[in-house]
Amino acid sequence: MSDCLFCGIVNGSIKADVVYRDETVIAFKDIVPRAPVHVLIIPTAHIAMLSDLTPNDDKIVAAVFRATGKLAEQLGVAKSGYRIVVNCGADAGQTVFHLHYHLLGGRQMGWPPG
Ligand code: 5GP
Ligand code: ZN
Repeated sequence: MSDCLFCGIVNGSIKADVVYRDETVIAFKDIVPRAPVHVLIIPTAHIAMLSDLTPNDDKIVAAVFRATGKLAEQLGVAKSGYRIVVNCGADAGQTVFHLHYHLLGGRQMGWPPG
């Protein structure tokens, strides 16, 4: 999608610190990290938000979650613990409308979130 920030990162027109990439998934460091480890894991295909997923996207969702587990290992937080967050819509504070999973770790996190 031409006016999408994260599609720009996928196609290389916008720079990002990419930590993982395959055909279906790309992961890069968040520009405003909220934890010592904070990466965004996104499908390379443009899907605006979780509620737009269809059964045709099942393989994409599985690939994103498999990449998430690998990344937690790669980034050194698999043992200490980490959190996956998907903000959906206004009340959750979603600001970029290309589906993305925040992987946060490297510090103790509170619950419930604010
Ligand atoms: P949301 O609020 O939609 O759940 O998360 C969007 C995330 O994208 C935010 O954590 C924000 O810091 C991050 N972000 C926004 N613009 C950029 C950018 O240009 N590059 C990178 N790497 N992250 C960005
Ligand atoms: Zn997009």
